[in-house]
Amino acid sequence: MEKTLLLIKPDGVKRGLVGDVLARVERKGYTIGALAMVNATEDLLGEHYVEHREKPFFPELVEYMTAGPIVAAIIEGARVVEGIRSLCGSTEPTAAAPGTIRGDLGRDWGNGQIENIVHSSDSVESAEREISLWF
Ligand code: UDP
Ligand code: MG
Repeated sequence: MEKTLLLIKPDGVKRGLVGDVLARVERKGYTIGALAMVNATEDLLGEHYVEHREKPFFPELVEYMTAGPIVAAIIEGARVVEGIRSLCGSTEPTAAAPGTIRGDLGRDWGNGQIENIVHSSDSVESAEREISLWF
């Protein structure tokens, strides 16, 4: 069965949105295969965001992702990678479509950061790699 990694980022946990996010995943019909609360380290984030490690926003991304605990979930189901990306919505919460997690629950807080509540794997290969980092 296909699997993907869903992270509820520190802003989502802090705002009390864990239940809302997981309820959307369950209502959509996917299976929660594993759940963990994790305090990310810079090393873990460097591996997880390997494609962004050299980007100018990476230090701020690390600051954001280490601001508190993260809820990591393995979600399972046919075409789940595509399905969970679609549920999450596009990267910037201001532009993300209403009905998506980022579109419904996120906003720009005017602090120069993109705080967008969730991460989800963008391909089956990324999902396998990311799951092995977080679980
Ligand atoms: N990000 C950021 N500034 C940027 C681009 C991305 O802070 O200019 C953060 C944001 O939290 C985003 C994450 O880095 O979710 C990963 O970026 P990506 O473009 O892969 O977006 P995603 O796959 O999360 O939609
Ligand atoms: Mg990405």
